Formats: sequence, structure tokens, C-alpha cells
Amino acid sequence: MNFKNVTVAGSGVLGYQIAFQAAFYGFNVTVYDISDEILEKAKTKFNILSEAFKKGLNATQKQLNVAFKNLNYTSDLSAALKNADLLIEAVPENLKIKIDFYQKVSKVAPEKTVFATNSSSLLPSKLAKKTGRPEKFIALHFANEIWKHNTGEVMKHPETSAEVFNAVIDFAKAIGMVALPIHKEQPGYIVNSLLMPLLSSALELWVNKISDIKTIDKTWMVATGAPMGPFGIMDVVGITTVYNINKIAADSTKSSIKIKISKKLKKEYVDKGKLGIVSGKGFYAYPDPAFEKKNFLK
Ligand code: NAD
Repeated sequence: MNFKNVTVAGSGVLGYQIAFQAAFYGFNVTVYDISDEILEKAKTKFNILSEAFKKGLNATQKQLNVAFKNLNYTSDLSAALKNADLLIEAVPENLKIKIDFYQKVSKVAPEKTVFATNSSSLLPSKLAKKTGRPEKFIALHFANEIWKHNTGEVMKHPETSAEVFNAVIDFAKAIGMVALPIHKEQPGYIVNSLLMPLLSSALELWVNKISDIKTIDKTWMVATGAPMGPFGIMDVVGITTVYNINKIAADSTKSSIKIKISKKLKKEYVDKGKLGIVSGKGFYAYPDPAFEKKNFLK
């Protein structure tokens, strides 16, 4: 399997980053979205992104010109898939939308096209049947700010063929990702399976008044050499997302600690607009958070 033509469906937060990354690394990319107006917006976002590539990757104007040349746009699904070797799906995280998308795409994509979902929380086996080609279906999960946080989690479901698994791993490497093979389905892949327990434990230590935010982060940083602690990480993720995850867990499990955590996050942070880096204030104040100061680890 040799991928050349890549179609990215959905040009939202993640989709346009994936498309640009693949175009930058020389693939012929077609960006598909539901309307031409949305695609016009994507074009302006690519210009902003190219500046980040200059700063973050020292990309030259010549390289960026090639990336722009490799990008094509269409809101016609059949045209988008016409000669696709690989489809990367980054449509909204909603089961109904994804099922509807795969039902449509399975009818128009050529037999050769491999389908990869970037879904963060829906296991590929939930969608596999709808694709009409379960052996050519897989998850390829990127992180936000893909050019900087370049993890490519490649996760099989029970029916994915070994050939497809290997080809997608090679593709992830070819677009500058650190490819992370995942042999069995796992909610949260590897990154979030590691991260979520850390963040939950930090929140519990705080809410149970075992220690304070700075001491908890300092402990983690000194003990492991990490550049930031769990509360620093939550400022990056965004406190709204952290709150939403805890609120869903509180509502579904009725766990008293999750209820306490979600109430405290809402009252002391979300309602006050302290949302993390995005709002300039969260557990720390930005752009110079305390944990980056010289004496923090003393
Ligand atoms: P988003 O809402 O920003 O973008 C979704 C895009 O899909 C929009 O441009 C929308 O117009 C388009 N769309 C809607 N219906 C469509 C359809 N039927 N066909 C084609 N395009 C359609 O969403 P996002 O944050 O980019 O998330 C997309 C996927 O990526 C989700 O599965 C999400 O779990 C995953 N993801 C997101 C992040 C993140 O940080 N945002 C990180 C990793 C993975």
C-alpha cells in the first residue's frame, strides 16, 4: 500500500491541521467539508497556520508554497473521494454524524481507499460496520497543534488488516508524526489513558484538601522532571473541558468526589471566566505562570 492522495473530511479544529501537515510533507491533499463557505474559512486558517509552521518548524516560504499547492478543496463528496488512497475523517464528535458520514462515503469511495477516523472518544468498532470495509478501517488520532504535539496514535479494531495497520503507521511517520501503534482498542488511546488518572488524582488531592495546587504540581515536577504538573496541564487542556468531563462523570456515576470536583471547578473557575491559557488565567496566570519561575521548585 502506497498512499499518495489523501482526503481529509472536516476542516474544523483538527481537520485543517491534519490537511496542512500532510500537504506540507508532500501528499496530494483534498479538503472536504459540507459547504464552500466553510472551505473558504479553512483557506484563511491555512494562512495563519503557515506562520506557526515558520516559527515552530523553521519552515521556509518555498516549502509552504509547495504545501499550498498540494491542497485542493471540494464540498462534493464523490469528487473528494474520486482517487483517494486514504481518507482521514475529522467530522464532529457525534455518533449520528459519523455514522451518516460513513454510510455516504462507503457508497462513493473507490475500493482501494483506507478510512481512518480521528475520533477521540468513539471506538472504531462502533463505526466499522457502517464503513462497508471494516478491514480497511482504523483510528489515526492526532493531538491539537499537530505540528508541535506530533503524536500519531494508530489503533486497530479487531477486524483491521495487518497491511492497513502497517500502512497507516508508515503514513503517520511520513507526515512527521511519532507513530504510536496500539494493537487493541482502548478508550482514550495511550495518551489519555495515562493522563486522565493523573489529572483525576490531582483534582482529588486538591478537593480533599490534602495539599494545595502549587505543592501538588511541584511534587510531580521534582519527582519526575516533567516541565509542568497536572494543574499546569489542565490549564493547557482548558478548564471548561476538564469541568465537562468531571460533570459527565458526576452525573453518570453520582460519585460524591466527582460531584465535589465539578462544583468547585464551576464555582471557582468556569463561572469566573478562569478557563486556563485560553483566557490568560486558570490555576496559574499567563503568560508567565508561577511554575516556570526559577524558585518554584525550591
Ligand atoms: P470541529 O467541530 O472543529 O470540526 C468539524 C468539522 O467537520 C467542521 O468544519 C464541520 O463543518 C465539518 N463537518 C460537519 N459535518 C460534516 C460531514 N458530514 N462531512 C464532512 N465534514 C463535516 O471538530 P474537531 O475538534 O476538529 O474534531 C473533529 C474530530 O477530531 C472529532 O472526532 C474529535 O474527537 C477529533 N479530535 C479533536 C481534537 C481537538 O482538540 N479538537 C483532538 C483530537 C481529535
